[in-house]
Amino acid sequence: MSESIARVRRQPELIQVNDRQLSTQGWISDLAERHLMAHLTGDRDECTIECMARTMFGRNIPRNREAVRRRIAGLHRKLLEAHKFLIIRYSERGQIIGCKFYSSEATEDERIVALTQIERMARRGDLSHERLEIARALLG
Ligand SMILES: [Zn+2]
Repeated sequence: MSESIARVRRQPELIQVNDRQLSTQGWISDLAERHLMAHLTGDRDECTIECMARTMFGRNIPRNREAVRRRIAGLHRKLLEAHKFLIIRYSERGQIIGCKFYSSEATEDERIVALTQIERMARRGDLSHERLEIARALLG
């Protein structure tokens, strides 16, 4: 493949800008997953909605935060199929304010949040039976 074609067909990627990551093509769920993995192996903090808006869309503005919020449930379902569980944290008003991979090093608090999340999803019928089973198995 010549260099010019390689440039035209460039794969979406996360580039490093100062101390932050930035998607070259907006929301791509694989890149969101990679970014969450960077948190898990890096600062170990959750990814806040502000961080995800900046990472995926370049700026932390309301429109971008909403765009992230609309995509988190879909990302969660996709990750479950890969047997990864996303802990989603909500504000008291029910808005998504952050998310983080559940890992074997999760704290007891995180485990409780994750279990609560699964039960809420089960009640609301947000997840198929199969995905619920995966989720419950992941949390042990
Ligand atoms: Zn982040």
